[in-house]
Amino acid sequence: MYKGAALDELSPFAIAATKPSAGTFFVDLGNDIGSSAWWRGMVSLVVMLVAAFLLATSPAKLPTRAYAPLPQAQMAALAAISIAPLSAGGRTGARVAPTVLVQPLSETPERPHIELTAELGSVDSFGGALRRAGVSMADIAEATSLIEDFAEIGNLKPGTEFDIVLGRRSDKTQPRPLDALSFRAALDLKIDVSRGNDGKLFARRIPIRIDDTPLRITGMVGDSLYKSARAAGLPSRVVANFIKALSPRVNFQRNVYASDEFDVVVAHRRAETGESETGDLLYARLAGPKKDLEIAAWEKGGKLEYFLPDGKGVKEGMSATPVRGARESSGFGVRNHPILKRTRMHKGLDYAARAGSPIEATAAGTVIFAGRNGGYGNQVRVRHANGIVTSYSHMKDFGPGIRSGAHVNQGDKVGYVGSTGMSTGPHLHYEVLVAGRAVNPKSQTLPTGLELTGGELRQFQSQMARLRSLSPSNDDVEDEAANAG
Ligand SMILES: [Zn+2]
Repeated sequence: MYKGAALDELSPFAIAATKPSAGTFFVDLGNDIGSSAWWRGMVSLVVMLVAAFLLATSPAKLPTRAYAPLPQAQMAALAAISIAPLSAGGRTGARVAPTVLVQPLSETPERPHIELTAELGSVDSFGGALRRAGVSMADIAEATSLIEDFAEIGNLKPGTEFDIVLGRRSDKTQPRPLDALSFRAALDLKIDVSRGNDGKLFARRIPIRIDDTPLRITGMVGDSLYKSARAAGLPSRVVANFIKALSPRVNFQRNVYASDEFDVVVAHRRAETGESETGDLLYARLAGPKKDLEIAAWEKGGKLEYFLPDGKGVKEGMSATPVRGARESSGFGVRNHPILKRTRMHKGLDYAARAGSPIEATAAGTVIFAGRNGGYGNQVRVRHANGIVTSYSHMKDFGPGIRSGAHVNQGDKVGYVGSTGMSTGPHLHYEVLVAGRAVNPKSQTLPTGLELTGGELRQFQSQMARLRSLSPSNDDVEDEAANAG
């Protein structure tokens, strides 16, 4: 403990310690604890703490800008635009109340022109779509007569969009005049209608260039032919046509494998503006280890039909006679049976021919019976893709490989003419059954095979070669396929 004035001047820290009783309230509370100076120091500390606390908790008010209270209407407007929870009375988006500055207008001003789009509905007319857009009847009539010079208005596709510009009108009771109208009348044609300086409408046709190179898509069947073909970019309608066109010759449930490859060419038109549309299936091929089926479209009798490379129709037709050069010895219908000696329905056709003459399947199909069948003798029955069954009876012998379950193509030998069973001499008894009932094999309702021959066959084959040589364009259609649905 230091005492003495000399030290006071040496160390400022020593002041409190050296002058505890010099009338000061500020003392070193570490010294002389319990002394009167210490207590005085303690009291002044507590007083200062209390003073500081009181000052901190009740600050003096600072001067601020004062707002005049808002009028009722403006409070309502503020409440409407301020964002607050609904539970707290928020009404965001409500109409803002007018303030005193708002003056009612005698007449609302109109935009000088309106641009809008109208769309042709599925059950709709050109006039109807424009009328809904607010075009006057007189303008619709005028535009219609102009457009009909270039396009058939009744043939516009649903979904066609009309870009319309309606102009300024003299007063609000009148419809706005049609100032411009433009739309796509076809993939390759745009029509523009505008109002000339003379106040009359005039139409212009704007041809759009089209690339009509057919589209070729190839791929592997994989898990599902449908999915793979869709993924490769074929519209679903084309996939369905592909399956339908090939189905007479391919069992899609059983004989299509993941490793099979498909190859499809479809008619395709692409406008220079980017739109495109796919058309008919032109060529299709399905190839695998055990099959190679190739077809192409050809117009026959005004219809698009599909043919194999050799000119035979894809759809199963039935050849006229199962035995070449044979004489038809007994027709279809009621007759006196030569052996039973009584009137009986003859449910087929008889062909007289030398014993051993080959009998050909009249259409491709599956053998469902090959063996002895009572009075029919040696019989072969074949079921065809369309459900029709043909039967060949009284045969001397069966053709090579003919047994139940065997597949036969049209023209394959199912057997040889004989006289087995209830028969008076070598002949073939030929029956055709539709849904289990014998029908006249010469009936007009049975499918007859289409076939291309001569010059037409050569033209078809060169077209097929051209389609086959197109380069695949799998990448081009991915986005279109998505639209085509
Ligand atoms: Zn017969």
